[in-house]
Amino acid sequence: MLDRKSYTLYKFHKQLNQSFQDKRELLECALPALRNLFKLDRAYFFNWQQDRAMLSLRMMCTKEYCMDKQEDISVVNEPAFLKQLIQYGITETTDLSYPAVYALLKWQRPSMELRGGEVHTFMQDRVGVIRLERFRKGRAFTAQELDLIKALAQEISHNLRNTEIDQAKNQRLNVSTALNDLSTIFASSLRLNDGLELILKGVQKYFRFDRVRLYLTDAYGRRIKSILGVDVSGEVTHEDVPHMGEAEIELLKEVFEPSVTYRSHRTVFYIPLKVQRNKVGFLAFDNILSRRAIGYLDYISLQQFASQMALCIDNTRLFERVQELSNYDELTKLPVRRYFNEKFSEELYRAKRFDLNLSLMIMDIDFFKQINDTYGHQIGDWALQEVSKVVRGCLRQTDVPCRFGGDEMVIMLPRTNGEEAKLIAERLQERITAISLPTRFTEGKEVHLSISQGISSFPQDGTNADELLEKADRALYVVKQNGRGHYAVYREVAAQADQAEKK
Ligand code: GH3
Ligand code: MG
Repeated sequence: MLDRKSYTLYKFHKQLNQSFQDKRELLECALPALRNLFKLDRAYFFNWQQDRAMLSLRMMCTKEYCMDKQEDISVVNEPAFLKQLIQYGITETTDLSYPAVYALLKWQRPSMELRGGEVHTFMQDRVGVIRLERFRKGRAFTAQELDLIKALAQEISHNLRNTEIDQAKNQRLNVSTALNDLSTIFASSLRLNDGLELILKGVQKYFRFDRVRLYLTDAYGRRIKSILGVDVSGEVTHEDVPHMGEAEIELLKEVFEPSVTYRSHRTVFYIPLKVQRNKVGFLAFDNILSRRAIGYLDYISLQQFASQMALCIDNTRLFERVQELSNYDELTKLPVRRYFNEKFSEELYRAKRFDLNLSLMIMDIDFFKQINDTYGHQIGDWALQEVSKVVRGCLRQTDVPCRFGGDEMVIMLPRTNGEEAKLIAERLQERITAISLPTRFTEGKEVHLSISQGISSFPQDGTNADELLEKADRALYVVKQNGRGHYAVYREVAAQADQAEKK
């Protein structure tokens, strides 16, 4: 036969024998159980911050409900009460007009700290206090009740330890899942912004922050270039920062200040993103709306996470830069053939799908070889650069020019029919013939450039890329045959082009 104390303990133990997500969930179960067992009017839980001689009220349960509380109570002036609590684990108050009991909770929780760039885990001692009140009927606590409360407090302490260990394990699992996702995402997304957006969403979700923002800066950390943010609803915001205001300058100073460390109770944190000495940007996490403090464990995990993220951003930026460089011709700064072909087939697909016009223009400099031969290769290069400047300046955003090779340039003109393409050809010709070679190289003579252009249009002259290129080239050939310095649309010179082919 179990005695009453053992039976109550056993029942209490069974009640708490479940997996709680966090300390709060555990207390939401334990405090009402105590309330029912001892017919309490109120039960409180406090964190005891011994270094600050402070009891921090965290939860209050009445007969009807349990609620979170945030209130600090100084216990500096009550050494006798504290001494008793520590010595016996339980003490009754004498300064209240009704019976109230304090019981000590002592447990340990896993903790981490960064030492010399390494993460160290250790068990940290924690102390808490529960206060149980009976103010309505004023019934005093009996000696047996006090004895039982002390035993139940030990049971709660035991459960607090287990819950904190579980919570830490889950958090670490979250971090490694997040880190895993991070590397998978970066491996599969080549566009920096797509990857970052997914990662921020992941961080927000795993760590349940109100908001996560990524600030990208220049390599010196002197300018914020853009801000990408994800909030609790999963909404993504992206803004470019064209001008730095006072607030941004201050923020940068704060973030890259070397002495920034963890401070408890804060609801905003900044973690710099650096690769060696180069700055990439920084992450900002906040719980400004929910007012939840950001835990040290989260902070440390995110710091490790941040160093990986910085590396990824740096790599991807480099990749994008290389990508960009290899898409452009160095001399003319025009896209190269490979890039053009990609864009051309995309546009052609769109034109077919939505029944749109598309024109293609091949332009070739007349007697370019002579320019090279007479004035030198450098003047030839100079001429190519001048022509490409005009080309870039004459086109719409959606047009794609390309250096096709040698002195030949191709321009794709989406949503443009043959007639409209002729107007563009006219404009190009006018502006390019206005270019004259620098007279110091031509013995004072006025030497002008001249170009010939062949045009083909979808769908009249062809329906696939090769056909359209070939037709534009044949139109160009006719223009060259007819004396150069002009332009032609294929179908208007088709007969002549066919004849030329036969010859
Ligand atoms: P046409 O009017 O028939 O086009 O006569 P052309 O002399 O322009 O003949 P063609 O287009 O066949 O000649 C192209 C010349 O362009 C040959 C080559 O030496 C020169 N060239 C090709 N690439 C470059 C370059 O990058 N820089 C310079 N300076 N010249 C180049
Ligand atoms: Mg030429």
